[in-house]
Amino acid sequence: MLNFHIITIFPEVCKSYTDTGILGRAQKTYKGKGSKVRGKKISVSYYDPRDFTSDKHKKVDDKPYGGGPGMVMSAKPILKAWQKAVGRKKNKKQIKTLILSPRGKIFDQKLAKQYAKKYENLVLISGRYEGIDARVKKALRAEEVSVGNYVLSGGELPAMTIIDAVAREIPGVLGERSSLEDRRVTSGEVYTRPDTVIYGSKKYVVPKVLLKGNHKEIESYRRKK
Ligand code: SAM
Repeated sequence: MLNFHIITIFPEVCKSYTDTGILGRAQKTYKGKGSKVRGKKISVSYYDPRDFTSDKHKKVDDKPYGGGPGMVMSAKPILKAWQKAVGRKKNKKQIKTLILSPRGKIFDQKLAKQYAKKYENLVLISGRYEGIDARVKKALRAEEVSVGNYVLSGGELPAMTIIDAVAREIPGVLGERSSLEDRRVTSGEVYTRPDTVIYGSKKYVVPKVLLKGNHKEIESYRRKK
């Protein structure tokens, strides 16, 4: 089982995503086909740095040393949130801490597989404003990870992207039917009923080969595509 721990000042933005669909199901014990009981595959917990502040305004940011625009997320509330999440875990080798950052290593399927296989606890720290005090990375020996060469307003969407991709690599998360089909990138285009769609003055039809039911031909068509 893989435990995801998300440190964010906007947990409510993420919860509805992780409670839905495949991720939601993976957090529950449920009956699969043939009444086979499937155990939990993942857990997802949230830690809001505001809950780890000591002032009455629950301040989580401050001005940058050396000047410059914007505010920086303070180290202390994040470090305390990390302690709460995994500080008591004995086997530190089972913990991977990621800081979402546009400067980080680009996240890809290979990393998703690696995280799913190697760790029991994945901590994702979402930044806001001008980013996170650099001492968090040093203190936690965290890795900076980016979801692409663009800048977003916060680390919440990147965290969701990583959780989704990593969870799909955990055996059993995709259920019985799918494993192989759902995991691969679909080759070529996909179609469903009806076989003709009229839009405006045009007709859009499904390629004939897909309607004939000849699996050899279909396979070779898809490979070509
Ligand atoms: N100038 C800041 C910097 O270079 O980090 C921009 C910070 S951005 C407005 C706020 C937060 O969004 C970052 O701290 C990071 O957590 C997240 N973020 C933005 N773009 C990202 C990306 N491509 N991948 C991962 N996280 C990203």
